Amino acid sequence: MNDNNKVLEVNDLRVAYNGTTVIEGLSFAVKRRDILVILGPNGAGKTTLLRSLLNLLPYQGDITWHAGKIGYVPPQELLRRQDIPPLKLSEFFAFKTSDREKIEAMLCAVGLDVRCLQRQFNELSTGQFQRMMIAWSLLDNPDVLILDEPTSGIDIGGEETIYSLLQKFWQKQNLTILLVTHDLHVVWEYATQVLCLNRQEMCMGEPDEVLTPEQLKRLYGSGIKFYQHRHG
Ligand code: ADP
Repeated sequence: MNDNNKVLEVNDLRVAYNGTTVIEGLSFAVKRRDILVILGPNGAGKTTLLRSLLNLLPYQGDITWHAGKIGYVPPQELLRRQDIPPLKLSEFFAFKTSDREKIEAMLCAVGLDVRCLQRQFNELSTGQFQRMMIAWSLLDNPDVLILDEPTSGIDIGGEETIYSLLQKFWQKQNLTILLVTHDLHVVWEYATQVLCLNRQEMCMGEPDEVLTPEQLKRLYGSGIKFYQHRHG
């Protein structure tokens, strides 16, 4: 792989909590403009991996970013909207920029009415909240966007899902996306690469190569129902 084309290199990553190893011997690379989906059962270490990549956790091994800005949309549960101080959206966005035009343009781009700037977090629907978080994370034009399980089933308005919204931005700008999801439909529709993680075990490749019944069974055990994408 051409070095210029790599946005992230992970080498022999090991992460432990209080001496208990959660990720071990993990090595992979991500190319610019990949949409990498990280798949794995609960407890596989997906969130731990993302948090290590963001330098939020101590780790061993090497994590090398060849990227300027990295945007992060944490999991919905982490945000626990009821615990967020009663900020208006306009105040929240002011942490990022004072450029009101830029904020309004970004809100329009994610399909939100600019009048919602006068609202507080708890006045937004879940779908609106997700759109708002995407707008927030994209406001300073990151090279990489990292998302931890954006709620997959939620229709955020019309036919548009959080994933088609992300894909729209991905098509328009030079964005690389790293995404944790449980939704295999998302993998088939949007992923350019898939990383299967189960603590130490892993496989990586294009969806067609990786999402075989055998691999999924290895990853999730026999309980998984295989969903085969049919091309056109
Ligand atoms: P996933 O995102 O794939 O569900 P996580 O990365 O959240 O998995 O967790 C991987 C393992 O690490 C789990 O066994 C979990 O219990 C453990 N773990 C996660 N966070 C902590 C923490 N802060 N302290 C101790 N153990 C943790």
